[in-house]
Amino acid sequence: MKALVVGGGIMGLSCAAALARDGHAVTLLERGPLPNALASSVDRHRLIRYPYGALEGYTRMVLEAFDAWDRLWRHLGRSYYVETGTLALASGADDWVGASRIALERCGIAHRRLGAAELEARVPMLELAGVTEAITVTAEVTLIDKDTATIASTLSNDQIVALPVGQEYRDLQKLIPGVQYTQDSVRGPSAGGSGQDNVYQFDGVNVTLPLFGTLSAEPASHDIAQVTVVKGGARAIDFDRSGGFSIDSVSKSGTSQYHGQVSFQLQSDGMAADLKAANAARSRFEQDRNWTNLNLGGPLLTDRLYFYGSYYRPQFSRENRANLYGELPNYDSTRNEGFGKLTFTPSKSLLLNFSYRDSKRVEKSDLFASNASATTGTGGESRLRIGTVEGSWVIGSRSYATANYTHFANETQGRPDNIANVTPSTAVGTRLDVANLDRLGRLSVPVPVAGQTAYNAFVQPLIDRYGFLQGGVRTGGGTETMSAVAQLVQ
Ligand SMILES: Cc1cc2nc3c(=O)[nH]c(=O)nc-3n(C[C@H](O)[C@H](O)[C@H](O)COP(=O)(O)OP(=O)(O)OC[C@H]3O[C@@H](n4cnc5c(N)ncnc54)[C@H](O)[C@@H]3O)c2cc1C
Repeated sequence: MKALVVGGGIMGLSCAAALARDGHAVTLLERGPLPNALASSVDRHRLIRYPYGALEGYTRMVLEAFDAWDRLWRHLGRSYYVETGTLALASGADDWVGASRIALERCGIAHRRLGAAELEARVPMLELAGVTEAITVTAEVTLIDKDTATIASTLSNDQIVALPVGQEYRDLQKLIPGVQYTQDSVRGPSAGGSGQDNVYQFDGVNVTLPLFGTLSAEPASHDIAQVTVVKGGARAIDFDRSGGFSIDSVSKSGTSQYHGQVSFQLQSDGMAADLKAANAARSRFEQDRNWTNLNLGGPLLTDRLYFYGSYYRPQFSRENRANLYGELPNYDSTRNEGFGKLTFTPSKSLLLNFSYRDSKRVEKSDLFASNASATTGTGGESRLRIGTVEGSWVIGSRSYATANYTHFANETQGRPDNIANVTPSTAVGTRLDVANLDRLGRLSVPVPVAGQTAYNAFVQPLIDRYGFLQGGVRTGGGTETMSAVAQLVQ
């Protein structure tokens, strides 16, 4: 289309820019220079505000005007807007402020009435005698009551990153005022009752362990943009006691600008305090920990489709372990976690989010009995998957529709470190390969029995071969084995 725009003020220029952006051939006619000092658009300052007295239509247009200005700032790569807030005062019988308040209320735009004392404190330079009403507009469009306990106890991302807490979702819960990390660490923090009275959600997905009511999932907290906590919530609220809380989070989304982060954190054994004496007697180890974190977000289609993706790899290792059989392998726990999110806004009143998180943790050589050989090590494997599809639609200033589909899987299993490569057979006549008992499966090394000479003579070669050394002498009673059999074939 060919378009002709007459007049190069803010209206004409915006119109021409929008037409050109949509691919039309535009000619702009201006009688003077651009910008024209005689145009009413040209000056050092202009203000934009929500209150327009009873002119509610104006107030509504300002909502869209802000979106349009934001698009312009993004296009220019720089914003010329300085937010100052709006204060509206009325005196005498003038009801302009009252009419504005009604319009703001109807449009769902947050504002607050100011009392005389607060007004005096905030604007001491104004002569306030005769002021009958004052409102300040916080200029946020909201469908929720910001004074509710839910909102008042929400932690922002800034608050979270400013505090020295751990890296796990569980660690965030230590920040909730009035919540304590109970002695029963399995059940986790609680608000006075048991950790089982809590409800744990992540990106709107309930990750509470069914039947047990505990938090067993361990999603990374790096992707969290906001955490919401309701105390005295969850099940306990029915009994009107402060036993539990309900926690939920919102993950980060891509925006119109590219944002990324790469970080590597290291915490070696020397950086942490020694274990307390009581514990140190039972388990003494030197633990090194590191965390790798990458993320990137940005637009795929300007103002329409955004992506956010992250990779998280925490790794813990412990060294210097030994038992009656001597040196033991190092403990190692490595987790690889990926997260991807697409945010789609086909229109300004529709928002769609798709997200998927996949995390796999492999643990090796976790626990050894004091008389178990190095090959008996076991560990674990866990896989966590959280998927969400959610949509929200602002139908009007008073109605809102939302839909959610979630997927949650948290599979865990114990895992042997070493797998014996044998094929068991039950065929008649099959004999154990006594020369390689430690390769066949679990071997409990026998101990001599007083007075059983023949038995003792039979087991002594086994003890000499597979027993642990105590005072320079091979001793029975330990476990020497591959920790599992690879396959059972008849
Ligand atoms: C002092 C003052 C303060 C204001 N403060 C605010 C404020 O704080 N907030 C706010 O929202 N609004 C404010 N306004 C109103 C706002 O500035 C105007 O509504 C807005 O700038 C109008 O833009 P426009 O493009 O329609 O007109 P203009 O900016 O006046 O542009 C019209 C253009 O058309 C050109 N033109 C005219 N005739 C012809 C022709 N025949 N051929 C070719 N070109 C022609 C002119 O040279 C001019 O460049 C204020 C206005 C004034 C005067």
